[in-house]
Amino acid sequence: MSTQNFLQSVERFIDTATHSVNLPEGLAERIAQCNSTYTVRFGVKLRGRIHSFVGWRSVHSEHIEPVKGGIRYASDANQDEVEALATLMSLKCALVNVPFGGSKGALQINPADWSEDELERITRRFTQELARRNLIHPGRNVPAPDMGTGEREMAWMADEYRKLGNSDAINQAACVTGKPVVRGGIEGRVEATGRGVQYALNAYLSHPDTAPLSGQKSIKDLSVVVQGFGNVGYHAAKFLSEDGARITGIVEHDAAIFDERGLDIDAVAGFRRETGSIADFPGAETVPSARGLTHRAADILIPAAKENAITLENCHEIDYKLIVEAANGPVTADAEEVLTQRGILVLPDLYVNAGGVVVSYFEWVKNITHLPFGLMDKRQNASTGQAVVAALEEISGRPLQDGQRKQIARETSEIDLVRSGLEEIMTRAFDDIMHCQRTQKVDTLRMAAYVVTITRIADYYRAIGL
Ligand code: GLU
Repeated sequence: MSTQNFLQSVERFIDTATHSVNLPEGLAERIAQCNSTYTVRFGVKLRGRIHSFVGWRSVHSEHIEPVKGGIRYASDANQDEVEALATLMSLKCALVNVPFGGSKGALQINPADWSEDELERITRRFTQELARRNLIHPGRNVPAPDMGTGEREMAWMADEYRKLGNSDAINQAACVTGKPVVRGGIEGRVEATGRGVQYALNAYLSHPDTAPLSGQKSIKDLSVVVQGFGNVGYHAAKFLSEDGARITGIVEHDAAIFDERGLDIDAVAGFRRETGSIADFPGAETVPSARGLTHRAADILIPAAKENAITLENCHEIDYKLIVEAANGPVTADAEEVLTQRGILVLPDLYVNAGGVVVSYFEWVKNITHLPFGLMDKRQNASTGQAVVAALEEISGRPLQDGQRKQIARETSEIDLVRSGLEEIMTRAFDDIMHCQRTQKVDTLRMAAYVVTITRIADYYRAIGL
């Protein structure tokens, strides 16, 4: 059986969900399709000759601007993948009530093939191409990190954008998020997606209407396997183990390691830094990567790598109670049907990994309100506090209650402010998902999340008369 195309899976989820939402004729199709995808090919002179690169920036929907979403560097990046990811960006922003439309970009490149200087030249050239079409712009399209990119690439992009002088100088810092703190970034953005996974899982486990998992309403002592040990997988594993979970397995592209007693996450990360791989981590059992997802049972699986990790080919063999989609699109639509029949629950990507864009929103609000950054603690905290309060008020559509305002004011560092804002937003979004599941009787948590978000996007479209 073939692996289901990621874009087709997302379209199928939208299609199924729209049966539960009363939409005007044709609107479901509008929501399922990306508005535009720009393909760019450019050459950069490196190592004595011109090398060609291909990249994309897809805009799913401008129902709210700016549109928002990361830029991925990967050798197997392609247009369909970028469009699926752009669609998910619109859905996740609406689900957590962050006022952005969805976009996504990618460059077909293996970053490991190039030196830092070369990557900088390639990134700056890519930025020039995007800027020419307003596909990077503080008020129109705001990229962020994704797989293969991080603070370093965002700093190059922001600097190149500044040099091009395309928008008001005063707003330029808001042209990308995920920047280093000293360049207008915000504390906690690097860990944000993993932190969001932790809050999402806690919200699920502790919610009064969810059934206990292995008899428990908290993560303590539950066993967890994490697939992917990049930024998201590492942080999710670290924070959950700090909460008392046992990370019994880590599955990477080149090997998988298991230890029923629970792996020491920072020790594994340090070991990989030294040896280049998690393989043969002392005290753990190493098995080939291809067997990683089916090797052992655990309470929870967190796929934190890429799309199509769980397909019709392996979904019959995996043995977990709950799958928490930290990656975008790791469970295909076909596979989810089988998992649901087998009683395996899936906490869906558009909710689980929304933490990245939530904290990007705090950063962007901080940038466009021109609140100071990089200054000494007190002023910095006051400005971030204002940004977080403003963002939460925008999200709830009403002023915060005094109690909440005071709670935020009590936080003493920028990172705590960001974390408490993120936790609040993730908890509210889960309440919305559960409310939908209760009232609309949809089968899965994914469908509940899709119904919530599509209803909101449809309301925006209706309001502008489409
Ligand atoms: N790349 C992340 C995502 O897929 C973050 C996007 C953003 O912060 O704009 O959600």
